[in-house]
Amino acid sequence: MRPMSASASHFALYDPFARMQFGLPNCFLCGAPLDPAVDTIPVFADWLLERYQLAERPIQMLDQSTSTFAETRIPCCPTCRTQHVEPLEAQVAAHTAASPEGLRELDSQTLFLWLGKMFYGIFVNELEREKAPLIKPRYPLSENRALFTRFRSFFQVLQALRVPMRYDDFTPGSMFLLNVATGPDDPAFAYDDDLATMVFSIRLGNVAVVSCLLDNAILLDVMRRVYDDARPRPLHPVQLAEFKARVYYGAYLLNAVPEYFPRPVQPGDEELVMDTFLDDITGVVFNPWQNSGYVQALEDLWRPWNIGIADILRNPAEPLSYLYDAEGQPRTLTQFPEA
Ligand SMILES: [Zn+2]
Repeated sequence: MRPMSASASHFALYDPFARMQFGLPNCFLCGAPLDPAVDTIPVFADWLLERYQLAERPIQMLDQSTSTFAETRIPCCPTCRTQHVEPLEAQVAAHTAASPEGLRELDSQTLFLWLGKMFYGIFVNELEREKAPLIKPRYPLSENRALFTRFRSFFQVLQALRVPMRYDDFTPGSMFLLNVATGPDDPAFAYDDDLATMVFSIRLGNVAVVSCLLDNAILLDVMRRVYDDARPRPLHPVQLAEFKARVYYGAYLLNAVPEYFPRPVQPGDEELVMDTFLDDITGVVFNPWQNSGYVQALEDLWRPWNIGIADILRNPAEPLSYLYDAEGQPRTLTQFPEA
């Protein structure tokens, strides 16, 4: 049901960055004060915890402490929980009940908000940990102004979870949906994230979503060919890792932070319209690609397969690829190591 008449306050955006207020006792989404004893929600929704039996599985935090999926929570007021978060989660749960392929049926804003809620939840949990860190970080998140600038921008478009909002002619992030041929030893659920580059990826069964949540879909644009080549076939996990390395490194090179501006609300408006502006005053959207940096990202992501620098740089000019062969044609990889 729509409100009889929308007022400007109905569309007011909440800015937790104004007072740097992220944890209890304020709702993460609207800022309303709440009861810390009851008003929290899991960052990874209950249906995920149940479906993939994650509740007691450990999560490693940046300060090297360990939490569990069930303990990783954010404050959320009853209104936001019942009106906004639970309906979104119920929608994603329903679409993926028969198969994770259902993720492909979600419209891009829904998928963005679903990923964004988890990613922002991880950010808030890391910040809270930093208040009493197990190991004092050398570069605390809370002192990282560039990071806060990015998350502040990101949070504005994430408010579409609560405020009826339309992104005018842009998508805030790049989201790549890929099929993965997982083996019997691969867990049914996996995720990884990098707060600094706004990269988040999650895999439900054989469907992976790799995303950069604050790039106005620039990476999607520049990686179009790689994505088109990777999309039609199931990737071997080692190929998915290479795809991720390209996203992680591409996001790292991104030199422009999108800014968002709500249009003034007119009487009768049913949604807030957001415009965007890409702050690339230096004129360079991407810093130059350097194989040394990319190789580091590859090495990190290929660690589970013991592919080291020596293997990656056998040909120093052309880092090892499992997505493409020497002629630049897409490769099909059914097993690793290859027979
Ligand atoms: Zn709220």
